[in-house]
Amino acid sequence: MFDKPAFAGHESVHHFFDAKTGLRAIIALHSTARGPAAGGCRMWKYATAEDAFVDALRLSEGMSYKNAMADLPLGGGKAVIWGNSRTDKTPDLFRALGRAINSLNGTYWSAEDVGVSVQDMAFAAEETKFVSGLSTGKAASGDPSPVTAKGVFLGLKAAALRAFGTDDLTNRTITVQGVGHVGGYLCSHLARAGAKLVITDVNAEAVDQVARATGAQVVDPADIYDVAADIFSPNALGAIINPETLPRLRVRVIAGGANNQLATPEMGDRLSEKGVVYAPDYVINGGGIINVASEISGAYDPAWVEAKLQRLIQTLGDVLDRAQREGRAANRVADAIARGRIIP
Ligand code: NAD
Repeated sequence: MFDKPAFAGHESVHHFFDAKTGLRAIIALHSTARGPAAGGCRMWKYATAEDAFVDALRLSEGMSYKNAMADLPLGGGKAVIWGNSRTDKTPDLFRALGRAINSLNGTYWSAEDVGVSVQDMAFAAEETKFVSGLSTGKAASGDPSPVTAKGVFLGLKAAALRAFGTDDLTNRTITVQGVGHVGGYLCSHLARAGAKLVITDVNAEAVDQVARATGAQVVDPADIYDVAADIFSPNALGAIINPETLPRLRVRVIAGGANNQLATPEMGDRLSEKGVVYAPDYVINGGGIINVASEISGAYDPAWVEAKLQRLIQTLGDVLDRAQREGRAANRVADAIARGRIIP
């Protein structure tokens, strides 16, 4: 573990196996310096245990950065279940996960991530109180996507202000990749703000629904990078800014909710050289974890969530201003600030 490139001074990594249910899970705690490590649980059919391990390391480090930039009293952690979320799920599997989480005595708080639903987390919650993102209970915060989308909308405007001198989105052409939970809510905000939307999704039903509601133009998933636009908003996959797509992008701003948009940190340098204002993903998409943090605190408070969200957007603005002033990539600036907040 200590020799892996993905190892970033993680405090601990826990492997769990439950013979009865077949649970194979890894919970990585990158840092508890700011508070209990918090981050969702992903269920994925990894090719190898090594892939699951590396993913847990990377994702948990990312959560430390995200929680620090949102100024939450939380560290970074992540759980991964090695399995197929379509075929391997049972209530008992998630109860076993709940017992695994419970054995960490509150140093790790979980929630939903890719492949894990609110219902799955409810089974885990039968065995531990250290899960969030629930739909019932005294502090339940429910689906975090609307808050994530609101943060992305406000952050996109903050980035537009830096690129165009105004955050008025009237008649701005905005391309949106992925119109699922976050992308769908985001498109409603953007349409109301008067933007001209060009959207894409591999899910034809989702794309039709959003196009009908917003008047958006639809393009094929493969063509979204070639559309000349003011702003590109990725809200689907990671690593979509890579050596293949970068030369094709003809936009001034990239601002979206997807995690891990840059294939490598160097892609941020290339964007900066191209004069593209890039809103670092783990800063702009922090609304969801802010919502979850309110639940973890024990009493869900919408006013606190709103105040934290506004503060997050100010932080994003500070990152973008500093990047412009110092001629550095925004992701490099954000990484440096986050590290300073994790290791005082
Ligand atoms: P989602 O599954 O609801 O939506 C993702 C959408 O992307 C789906 O409609 C899917 O069909 C589409 N998609 C998949 N592959 C695509 C492709 N090649 N081209 C175009 N579209 C494609 O997920 P979500 O909750 O909306 O999350 C979207 C992104 O935001 C993810 O990267 C997620 O990690 C990140 N994120 C989400 C939240 C949240 O609160 N939900 C918070 C922070 C970050």
